[in-house]
Amino acid sequence: MNNNGWIFGLVLVASAAAAPMQITVQVFNNANAPQLEVRQAEREAGWMFQEAGIAVRWIECPPYVRERGGDQVCKETSDPGLFVFLINAAEPPERSDTALGFALTQGLSNHAAAVYPRIVALTAHNSGYQDSSLLGSVMAHELAHLLFHSTRHGEGIMKPVWSHRDYQAMAQRRLTFSAAQAQTLRTMLTARVASAVKQTGETAATANTRPE
Ligand SMILES: [Zn+2]
Repeated sequence: MNNNGWIFGLVLVASAAAAPMQITVQVFNNANAPQLEVRQAEREAGWMFQEAGIAVRWIECPPYVRERGGDQVCKETSDPGLFVFLINAAEPPERSDTALGFALTQGLSNHAAAVYPRIVALTAHNSGYQDSSLLGSVMAHELAHLLFHSTRHGEGIMKPVWSHRDYQAMAQRRLTFSAAQAQTLRTMLTARVASAVKQTGETAATANTRPE
């Protein structure tokens, strides 16, 4: 037990020197889900990432206001540690599957969403399930897809299909990232930040050669 704690601490110190192990997630509650439930879901997902050695800073964003154009309260920046999570009120018309959420792993790979009506329907028909732990698990699962830059699945919270037992385990914080998944999350976050720093440096270098 002590030994594990010591190793975990050492990993954190070593990682901190390379890059801050923190991500920021802008949450857009487009489904008008109860605020308390969203906060609890953020706590659940945040706990899973914390266990994996990554802190999550949550920013709750008001809905997108078309008239404001680029002047939104939550602005999207090129910060490689910034992610956008949408709690959607409707099922995406282009998707006929029954997924509870999805992640856009193309391009910047920083947008993911939950299909809130499916979460509500699932908990309404199954006792022992909780909207908040389910939403939090969807958040953690989809954000991990973004960090992995992959739609690949695995064990624990990254299973492709959750069973009745998994949903019950979520409510008791027994379904989370494996040690290997946690390590990959940290490695991918470090690489993501390093790659952004390199690109910024290249852009700056190019700009410097341009006549003023
Ligand atoms: Zn998935």
